[in-house]
Amino acid sequence: MSTIPDTVSGPVRLRLAPSPTGFLHIGSAFLALLDVAFAKQHRGQFILRIEDTDQKRFVAEAEEAIYDGLRWLGLEWSEGPDVGGDYGPYRQSERLPLYQAAAEELVKMGRAYYCWCSPERLDQMRREQQARKLPPKYDRLCLGKTEAERKQLPGYTERPVVRLLMPSEGQTTIDDLIRGPITIENALIQDTVILKSDGYPTYHLAAPYDDHAMRITHITRGEEWISSTPIHWQIFDAFGWEPPAIAHTPLLINADRSKISKRKHPWAKVSWFRDEGYLPEAVINYLGSLMVHVPDPNNPDPSIDRDIFGLDDIVRHFDLGRVDPSGKIVDLDKLNWLNGHSIRALEIGELIDKVRPFLETARLHVAGDPKLAPALALEQERIKRLKEAPEAVSFFFRDEDYDAKLLVPRGADANRALELLRASMQTVEEVAAGETGWKAPALEAAFRALAERLGLKTGKERGQLIGAGVMRVAVTGRTVGPPLFETMEILGADTVRRRMQAALEMLAGLASGAQRSAVR
Ligand code: GLU
Repeated sequence: MSTIPDTVSGPVRLRLAPSPTGFLHIGSAFLALLDVAFAKQHRGQFILRIEDTDQKRFVAEAEEAIYDGLRWLGLEWSEGPDVGGDYGPYRQSERLPLYQAAAEELVKMGRAYYCWCSPERLDQMRREQQARKLPPKYDRLCLGKTEAERKQLPGYTERPVVRLLMPSEGQTTIDDLIRGPITIENALIQDTVILKSDGYPTYHLAAPYDDHAMRITHITRGEEWISSTPIHWQIFDAFGWEPPAIAHTPLLINADRSKISKRKHPWAKVSWFRDEGYLPEAVINYLGSLMVHVPDPNNPDPSIDRDIFGLDDIVRHFDLGRVDPSGKIVDLDKLNWLNGHSIRALEIGELIDKVRPFLETARLHVAGDPKLAPALALEQERIKRLKEAPEAVSFFFRDEDYDAKLLVPRGADANRALELLRASMQTVEEVAAGETGWKAPALEAAFRALAERLGLKTGKERGQLIGAGVMRVAVTGRTVGPPLFETMEILGADTVRRRMQAALEMLAGLASGAQRSAVR
């Protein structure tokens, strides 16, 4: 089924290699899902490596954010800094001696060299290149020189870096599993720093070194790294290591095709999705829809895909070779739609559990209230994100202020609204006292009879009473909400009557105010 040739001996191993920036980027989650799908499909392993060579200090919370995000999505790793494994340590800052030895060996092999150029000299060189309209590239002043020789020249610094010697000729061809062969001229790539003067490696040494050391068979990473791959391939070549298979994945982008940045776009962070009340299964479903086609067995047309699916379906149908390389737009409308579906699929008990933290945050302390389950069951049809739940159910638990003008339905005035509400009050009293009990069907029947008695014939006229009309606003304080008679049943006769009474007074005020201004 897969279009990827099986050339790897031994277990398939993929890694996610995030830098601890303080959050898990949604693009990393996309990659992790792709890795997990591919690894599971090949009964392989998914490994987590923390690339923390850019910072001097270990920041526990920054790593936690990565773990939390992946675990929330249900994307588990079998080796990593927190769970250990045979090829650790999995935190690059704990592997410095390995990289330092590798850099030294590369220098001995003549594939890398020390560079003593001071930052000022490099700056000066860059400015001159700019002035001459040349691409910025290290001019190899230090190449082939001993320390003593270099010392004679200006712009010398005591603490050297190590630069990789890129071949000045030839090309590197990357057999990208998604994009096909990509060929890059070696001469376009400068001699990159692989070991910094403080003894820390750069990404260009640490990543290929670890991909080999950790027996990674398939590298997947965002397309922004394509130009780095020829550098890494030089390192594999110098050591005589077989490079892993590689796929440069499509980037996730905004609807306007811009980059998703953590400063401007809150959805850059996986934690945002959790905080907004998305369910992890909906996020997985959504990310999966960007990388896999899941056929719909109920549709005779094989080109029609299924919209709703889970991780198992993704694993079953994933084909790395068929991933479309173009940028993938993060469409929150579609995600909202999927999330609404996931919310409706929850058992009411599960929904209550998931909504509880959102209620607490909104200071709606109603977790133990028996009205919560039926109220949420009604709202379950409508809410798209768990975060909407407190606002959606709050009126079940407290009388809320609203603008009296909402009580006057479209096409009517305050007097007419008052008339309708007075008649409704009588109907409500009758049902409350009646034998059928305070139940939605009884309320519905009674209000249907009332509408007839009042001569409300068209849907529009009846809407003045129920729909978005005076009864809905009197009972809920809003013009939109769940089915009204079910809502009234949950609220109970006392609450409904109390709220209607308050609404009658508000309307009376409005009606007499209107009269006064008419007289004036
Ligand atoms: N540390 C890099 C990142 O954060 C990893 C790139 C790669 O996967 O090679 O994107």
